Amino acid sequence: MSTSSDRPRGRFPANLAAPGAAPAVGTARKPAEPLRPQRLLAEAVRDARRLAPPSGLGLDNPAMRQRMVERLRQDGVRCEAVLQAMLTVPRHGFVDSALAAQAYEDTSLPIGLGQTISKPSVVARMIEWLFLGQSARQAGHLGRVLEIGTGCGYQTALLAAMARQVVSMERLQPLHELARRQLAAHHTSHIHLLHGDGMLGHPPRAPYDSIVAAAGGEEVPAAWLNQLAVGGRLVAPARAQDGRGQVLVIVDRTEQGYLRTTGETVQFVPLKSGAC
Ligand code: SAH
Repeated sequence: MSTSSDRPRGRFPANLAAPGAAPAVGTARKPAEPLRPQRLLAEAVRDARRLAPPSGLGLDNPAMRQRMVERLRQDGVRCEAVLQAMLTVPRHGFVDSALAAQAYEDTSLPIGLGQTISKPSVVARMIEWLFLGQSARQAGHLGRVLEIGTGCGYQTALLAAMARQVVSMERLQPLHELARRQLAAHHTSHIHLLHGDGMLGHPPRAPYDSIVAAAGGEEVPAAWLNQLAVGGRLVAPARAQDGRGQVLVIVDRTEQGYLRTTGETVQFVPLKSGAC
């Protein structure tokens, strides 16, 4: 399990508002290159032609996932629960078979309707940050999780391996149904997939110990803050304070109020209101 002493390497300067203060934006040191969890379909298709699994290794071979996890370790991911989950969940089963050869590269891939499955390194870092929240640190698991942006369901499957319950919301019906099919083979009894506007959260199952979003809006919606349990942590992309690009935002809810940290620059697909 991760502890505060094994935070992801130097990427996320702590920048906390005073306890009890309203959520406030801090200044963040920017890495030279923004993280790009998404990328263009044309690039992915071009790479699909070029890349193939190392000779002798089929995609079902656990060695494929081991290589990915080793790279994540080298990149500073320390949380064993995250690494174990990534060893067991077959990412290639969540992407189109034409792109499956790239499933264990550190790259985002198109999943249809202009959306993408996020890069493994970004998924790992976001879940690792969730694990450093107070409740998760104490419990050793993510508790009850609200995920916004189910997409193809890969991150949902990872979260399910580390949580008591996962409520995952997707605004696009075809992707909601895709995730339902993909996740059928996993332990789904504690996964609740919902088709709807995740900006509103899901009050009937609130409060949530962990909230994570795979799409970024102007601000963290108030509904998510309201539905975060005391001791819980939220990790989501939102517009940077200077108005240029997105940053990861971490919000901890304490007895005294909300503590907000801003982190590295990212590029997620837009958080959109409504469902269709
Ligand atoms: N974790 C997903 C990422 C998918 S991309 C994966 O690994 O596949 C982000 C997703 O957020 C898209 O599917 C998009 O449709 C969805 N999304 C954007 N705004 C949303 C909203 N308000 N409510 C629910 N889902 C939303």
